[in-house]
Amino acid sequence: MKIAVLASGGLDSVILIHYLLKKGERVQPIYIKMGHIWEKAELRRLKQFLKRAQTRNLKPLVTLSLPTEDLYQHHWSLTGKNTPGAKSRDTRVYLPGKNLLLIGKASVFCATRRIHRLALGPLKNNPFPDARPSFFKCLEQVSSKALNFNLKIKTPFLGKSKEEVMAIGRNLPLHLTFSCLAPKGLHHCGRCNKCTERKKAFRLASIPDVTPYAH
Ligand SMILES: [Zn+2]
Repeated sequence: MKIAVLASGGLDSVILIHYLLKKGERVQPIYIKMGHIWEKAELRRLKQFLKRAQTRNLKPLVTLSLPTEDLYQHHWSLTGKNTPGAKSRDTRVYLPGKNLLLIGKASVFCATRRIHRLALGPLKNNPFPDARPSFFKCLEQVSSKALNFNLKIKTPFLGKSKEEVMAIGRNLPLHLTFSCLAPKGLHHCGRCNKCTERKKAFRLASIPDVTPYAH
């Protein structure tokens, strides 16, 4: 039985793919394009990472589209203006309903391909309403009912801290992951909220950070 994984190309989702492969799972990675300004860089890195991680149990990446320009309009995630910086609070990176949209689209994909499990990688202490255990449980029920299909939503890292997750991925080529809100070309900016969080994660886990940052 396959398990689909919502992969953004960031640290948590690629470590989740590795974690599931290590457990002997057949993994179907899914990337969903929403129109964010970092997607070109993110998708490029994700493909590089998956190429390096290639095993028989890792299925070819599926890319789906879910344009959000009409929803988010002048949001920084689409315009690149007023992007949350290094000192911004983590709550500023909230994208309304992002997990609702992603899981909704991925659920239909799973049901039509007869994949009964969908995994994603939110961590402990995620402050957003659509990353809480109760939300995932409700959406699992709603999706299963709506699609008349038994779908389980799996969040194996929901009880883990960033440090614990980094430890799981310690030996992976983590420099190939991508987590930046304001890329300079295909590189991390080094200054945004996500780049700051990324640098801290490497530091806390005592893993050398060889990411090429623009700043
Ligand atoms: Zn950045």
